[in-house]
Amino acid sequence: MEESAKYLSEVIGQKAALDIHAELFSELNTFIGHGLPVYIEKKGIHLIRKFIDDNETKEDHVAGGYIRLPDNTRVIFVNTKRNLREQLFTIAHEFWHHIEEKYTSDFSIFQDKDVSEHAGDHFAASLTMNAASVKVLFQRMVNQQYSLDEIIYFIADLSCMPYVSVLRRIKELKLFDELEELHKMDSNPFIKHLSSEFQNYRKKLLKNGEEEYNLENEFIQKRQAKLSYTHPLDISDGQELIFIAYDKTIQNVKEQNLLVDRDEKMTELAAEDE
Ligand SMILES: [Zn+2]
Repeated sequence: MEESAKYLSEVIGQKAALDIHAELFSELNTFIGHGLPVYIEKKGIHLIRKFIDDNETKEDHVAGGYIRLPDNTRVIFVNTKRNLREQLFTIAHEFWHHIEEKYTSDFSIFQDKDVSEHAGDHFAASLTMNAASVKVLFQRMVNQQYSLDEIIYFIADLSCMPYVSVLRRIKELKLFDELEELHKMDSNPFIKHLSSEFQNYRKKLLKNGEEEYNLENEFIQKRQAKLSYTHPLDISDGQELIFIAYDKTIQNVKEQNLLVDRDEKMTELAAEDE
């Protein structure tokens, strides 16, 4: 993907997220968190949580999908094989596909699926971890000498997002660059320690999707050891939750075979499912 296309997709994704924030909140310094499913239902979308036993490799990973049925019913599927943090990120991403037309119809580059998907990810991150909230929390927690892991746990729990997504958000908002710039003159040992911890994580983020998946699991296990129980948002027991519209909708998808979802993998599987 070209840098200019990537940049534009991020600007548009962020704009859409800010519009939703403005619709709901009087200030930016708020997380939508677990309010998101209520919001999307209010927008007329059925949320269906379904266990799909996919592979964990990048190509076969099935997080979710957005479909429009012939009767105009809109559905977001989410795979409950993933924990609640990932599910919520997926819901945010799929919601992008519901609104993208409104934001992208003026730009031909969004016909490229990669560009649209990139915008969706950026939209999801901006909606669930808005820049103002993350920035304020980060700065205050650094001032109060929270460790990097504590900062990540705190923001991940408030936003209900995966730990790696929080890390990536801290990176893309350049919060460490700002911090280092601020402390260029003094040699604050706490800041130095925090920065070196961040650089360690950052190296892992730069690698591939597989590496990110492992890093998320590392976070989950480390936290589990610390708490001596699994954090509720980290539980992914593959439990199947059946929602009211579920059977009927899957049946419709199968019979009419009319899917307009752009996350094809998910819809293929949903259509095949018995
Ligand atoms: Zn997508």
